[in-house]
Amino acid sequence: MRLYAFLFLISVPFIVEGDRSTQTVIFPTQTSTSYVEMTPKKDMTLRAFTLCLQVATELSGEREIILFAYGKRDDELNVWREQNGGISLYLGESSNGATFNVPDPGALHTHLCLTWDSMTGASTVFMNGRRSLTKVYKKGHTIPAGGKVILGQDPDNIEKMEAGFDAKQSLVGEIFDVNLWDFVLSDSDILDLYSGKKVQRGNIFDWETTNLRVSGNTVVLKHQV
Ligand code: CA
Ligand code: CA
Repeated sequence: MRLYAFLFLISVPFIVEGDRSTQTVIFPTQTSTSYVEMTPKKDMTLRAFTLCLQVATELSGEREIILFAYGKRDDELNVWREQNGGISLYLGESSNGATFNVPDPGALHTHLCLTWDSMTGASTVFMNGRRSLTKVYKKGHTIPAGGKVILGQDPDNIEKMEAGFDAKQSLVGEIFDVNLWDFVLSDSDILDLYSGKKVQRGNIFDWETTNLRVSGNTVVLKHQV
């Protein structure tokens, strides 16, 4: 049992400063077991955030796909590609998300950012540096600390992790460059990120130094940038 657990969780070393490469995560098949857990650099109590990631998937329009999940007892910050298209942000247990009718991320790497500010409820999506309309969502809400961040699956049961996974919600494809800030970045910073310029690194998740705990059929590759 011990050996099994050891084989199942492989810690991936971080990328060295100055190295012109990054790590990229591939989920080759649809499973209810493959996922990556990321450990935040600091407390995730959030009254604002910018979440950026790059994703590519060939599951277009077939079903919903989880792109990012932060859960505690319940879902706290989830980002979905909806079945009927669009990108949705869900905060807390609410069954109502903020859905943005942006184009589907397809087989080419798509740079996706979401911003949210509790003070006004303003939320926007940026796709390949282009800004969506602003929606008002969950004004006054605070995202609590103490949960877990998962890529590849929607963890409906953060304690028993895999017991809550649904293969029909999993990400099949590639995801990388997942960065999180506890404030809203400017439009020009997001455009700079998209065009590969160095901007301030995520103060909650910095993809270049974050440790990934990889489970199941998950492949981490080095990728020259
Ligand atoms: Ca689920
Ligand atoms: Ca869920």
